[in-house]
Amino acid sequence: MKNRLTIAMQKSGRLSEETQNLLKRCGLKLNVTDRRLLAHVANMPVDIMRVRSSDIPGLVMDGVCDLGIVGDNTLEEAALERELLGGNASYAKTTTLNFGGCRLSIAMPEEFQYKGIESLHGLRFATTYPQLLNRFAAENNIKVDFCMLKGSVEVAPRVGLADGICDLVSTGATLEANGLKEVEVIFRSKASLIQSTNTINEEKQKILDTLLPRIQGVMKAKESKYIMLHAPKNKLNEVSRLMPGKETPTVLPLAGREDLVAVHVVATETFFWETMENLKALGCNSILVMPIEKMMG
Ligand code: ATP
Repeated sequence: MKNRLTIAMQKSGRLSEETQNLLKRCGLKLNVTDRRLLAHVANMPVDIMRVRSSDIPGLVMDGVCDLGIVGDNTLEEAALERELLGGNASYAKTTTLNFGGCRLSIAMPEEFQYKGIESLHGLRFATTYPQLLNRFAAENNIKVDFCMLKGSVEVAPRVGLADGICDLVSTGATLEANGLKEVEVIFRSKASLIQSTNTINEEKQKILDTLLPRIQGVMKAKESKYIMLHAPKNKLNEVSRLMPGKETPTVLPLAGREDLVAVHVVATETFFWETMENLKALGCNSILVMPIEKMMG
């Protein structure tokens, strides 16, 4: 494994499919259908270590893996825990990825009279994230107690284990279904690509130098759209002003048409229906918005 780059990813769960898709779109031929912990990439000197999410920060901090893809919530919790215990908590965050979005929130039973953060003082919370909860309490000058639960956290208040919970939320549907209301968001999270701070050899550095721009390229492509339309020549300035993003549009002649031109642009911002309607009102037609597969440069 000396000259092979090792990437830690979640074996199965909320981040595993998006992570696999990202690596595949970077050109890595993965065979993760088998049960092995370590999967070899067939076409690049890269190995994929498939583990529990909570093991990923430690594997990268200890230099066992060169890269890791993990939620910021898991990462921050692990870093705080290691700092508390005097362990090595160093890593470099390479990129925030555009998936795995969620928030760590405090939720209380619906009947609880919430009157601001002070009303949480002295209460007990079920959580998988005691360090993040303690940091929030310290920052807000309150004291809280916790009981550690790794799953089904939301049942804790109902069974008398805790007054409230501190857990991950994305839509809030699970909270609602369990008679809980979200009262404070204490941490916002996305998946991140993290890197070990250990020095790596030249061979591994070469692989990293190939892989990192590809990851950036896939992320950028996912957020961007290719827009094509036909625009009246005399409205080009207004049309350009409506185009999202900072790219200069490409303007091309249309065969047999003196009054119309084709306008192409890569939009790095959301292209709203309203913008399409405004373009149409200016006399544009054949407006196409297409996904982009890969981007570089
Ligand atoms: P593992 O089972 O691998 O030890 P886990 O219990 O955190 O880890 P998942 O429930 O699959 O596994 O969550 C993985 C990550 O997905 C979370 O740490 C978080 O970063 C992200 N995530 C996104 N949305 C949610 C959500 N609604 N609830 C929980 N996690 C979410």
